[in-house]
Amino acid sequence: MSALKRSMTEPGITFRTIIGLEVHVQLRTKTKLFCGCLLEFAALPNSLTCPVCLGLPGALPVMNREAVRLAIRLGKALNCTIADFAKWDRKSYYYPDLPKNYQISQYDKPLCQEGWLDVPGEDGVGRVGIQRAHLEEDAGKNIHDTPGCTLVDLNRTGTPLLEIVTRPDLTSADQAYAFCTELQKLATYLSVSEGSMQKGQMRFEPNVNLAIVRDGIEYRTPISEIKNLNSFKAVRAAIEYETRRQLQDWMADNSYLFGERPHENRGWNDGRQVTELQRSKEQAHDYRYFPDPDLVSVEVGRNAALQGELNRPIDELPVARCLRFQAEYGLSANDAETILAERATADLFERAVEAGAPPKVAAKQFVNVWSKLANEYRRSIAELGIEAKRIGALAKMVEQNTVSASAAKTVAAAMLDSTDGPDFLAEQLGLIQVVDEEELAKWVDAAIAANEKAVQTILTNPKKAKASEGFLRGQVMKISSGKADPGRAGELIAKRVAGLKDQED
Ligand code: ZN
Ligand code: MN
Repeated sequence: MSALKRSMTEPGITFRTIIGLEVHVQLRTKTKLFCGCLLEFAALPNSLTCPVCLGLPGALPVMNREAVRLAIRLGKALNCTIADFAKWDRKSYYYPDLPKNYQISQYDKPLCQEGWLDVPGEDGVGRVGIQRAHLEEDAGKNIHDTPGCTLVDLNRTGTPLLEIVTRPDLTSADQAYAFCTELQKLATYLSVSEGSMQKGQMRFEPNVNLAIVRDGIEYRTPISEIKNLNSFKAVRAAIEYETRRQLQDWMADNSYLFGERPHENRGWNDGRQVTELQRSKEQAHDYRYFPDPDLVSVEVGRNAALQGELNRPIDELPVARCLRFQAEYGLSANDAETILAERATADLFERAVEAGAPPKVAAKQFVNVWSKLANEYRRSIAELGIEAKRIGALAKMVEQNTVSASAAKTVAAAMLDSTDGPDFLAEQLGLIQVVDEEELAKWVDAAIAANEKAVQTILTNPKKAKASEGFLRGQVMKISSGKADPGRAGELIAKRVAGLKDQED
């Protein structure tokens, strides 16, 4: 039991948190779900609208097949059954950012049902059930930053969303956090969504309640739904807060129970780090769901493009690919994960290996060299635009000790501004490693002569000997302008210092 749980309860009381998630994922289409309006972030308000998404009378929606195709792809990756027959329903509610007064969604015949997502965690992989994933359109946006009035931007109305509903299988805020990040990874990996938090492309609504056991009897608190969280951090913090709040409310009043109190909709106040009661939750019948008479049903089997997506084998997913990178290339889990953070970069790595790069050296360069350059340019490694062949060639040079690992950084930076191979560039920069023993001996002797203090430390202070050896090796690299092989320099330093020690003895 966690420290949190112990400190909050009286003796004789235990509890567990029950969490289900609803996640809205924006699908990566060019246009909206039922009209041809473009989807762009931060466009001039109300510039991306037409009679259909403005909800003008008589305007007729037409389904965007690409959105359905992407939904099938993600649904399959979530191990869902894809319905052969799905339909569209109107979910009625009245709100200024919903001009039709209903949202087109899927009620009793969702496109995807009954799947799961495996989520890695501290206690191994946890399987989270997916109850359903259905398509629906987004509403617009109310803007409250003008005193005395609310502005409405309808650019976002009609944006295709896949609403994914999990089973209440999650048991902690950390696990919910891991689920959300894993889902983002999956959706971006499959190019189903851009998955950008900044652009509001993923929104999370945890359902939380507690099962509290006192004297062998279990009590359940009312479920609260925390609306519209737009960051992973908020998901974790809101669930942690809600766990504490529900326990305290139950301890203060034992009739705070599921069935006796209504379900609650709560909002997350990020500034105060608390959830706040919004309104008691509607029941499904309040929405007056009914089939949309303006749209035909989705029959996957009768649509060649959708059937094609359904039959396409699922791409190798990030979790499996990470394990394969470790097994096949001998990479550490951390290195594999860093490379796999972006699919195009992972693909580039594999092409570099195919082009002859030694995998372990190439992986180190991806993590230590290429990712730093990518960060400097605010891009991903793949977006640096360096061909797999040249990336592979540089890794090979380090493997063969033609350049040192540190000199490779300079060569890599030079590769960004040139189409030449790393061998040519290293030659030009004078970074080809010198294997000449005589020259190496000169550099080592010079470093030792100029740094008597470090030598003394190695001889007299075993605790600091390693650090001083490293320092001397660095000096050799400096004196040689990076041309020395650091491994061999280290060996020679150790040999020379041992010689000095013998003299002293
Ligand atoms: Zn439109
Ligand atoms: Mn929804």
